[in-house]
Amino acid sequence: MALLGSPIRVVPCAVQKRLYLTFDDGPGSFTTPAILQALGELGTAATFFLVAERARRVPHLVREIIAAGHAIGNHSLDHAYHHYFRGWRHLRTWIARAEQELSDLAGCPTVGFRPPAGVRTPELAWALDDLGLPLVLWRVRFFDTLLPWHSFWAVNSLRITPPGAIVLLHEVGRARRLAAHVETLKRYITAARQSDYTLDVLSRAVLAPLSGKDRAQNSSRSTEHG
Ligand SMILES: [Zn+2]
Repeated sequence: MALLGSPIRVVPCAVQKRLYLTFDDGPGSFTTPAILQALGELGTAATFFLVAERARRVPHLVREIIAAGHAIGNHSLDHAYHHYFRGWRHLRTWIARAEQELSDLAGCPTVGFRPPAGVRTPELAWALDDLGLPLVLWRVRFFDTLLPWHSFWAVNSLRITPPGAIVLLHEVGRARRLAAHVETLKRYITAARQSDYTLDVLSRAVLAPLSGKDRAQNSSRSTEHG
C-alpha cells in the first residue's frame, strides 16, 4: 500500500465513456432537494458524499437519495479537521461511526470514504485499509464552494476530461446561488451527454477492486477548473 493510500480518481471504462458526478457536504434541507430535482428531470444518477451528523438531522433526505437511484459515500462524521492529528485509531473510529450511521440511515453501505478537504495522511490510509473502505477522491473539480460555478467552465472542462473521471461538486448556497448552481449542473449534464458521456453512480463493487492499486491514471494530478 502506498504511504498515503491509493486514492481513486478515475474508474477505468473499456467501452462506454462514463462520468461520475459526486456532491459533497450534504445533505442540506435546501440543497439536496434542488439537486435531486435537477438530476431527476434529466434522468441522471450521481453519488452524494454525506456528513453523518448532517444526515442525522434530515434522515428523510438520505432515504430520498437512495430511493431515486443515487448512491451515498462517507464524508466523515462531522467534517472537522482536528481528527487528522489524533492518530490512526481515532481516525478509524471517526470513519467507522460515520459509516455505521450512514449505512443505518440509507439501508445499505456507502461506496467509500472521501476525506474532508481531500486530506491524505499515512494514518488515514491505515484506518481505511483496516476498515476495507475505498479512498475516493476526484479527477475534476471546479472550486464551487469558493466561486460561482459558471457553465462556461463546466462545459469547456469536458474537452480535457478523461473517460471514467470522478467529478467533485458541492451542495452549496441558498436561493440565488443555489439556483445558478443547479442551472449550471443541468447545462453540464446536457453537454456531457452531447459529448457521449454516460453518467453513472459509483458503487462499492466498482471501487473495491481499484482500491490499493496504484494505477497510473489514478495517481496523476487532478484536473482543476477555477
Ligand atoms: Zn467536504
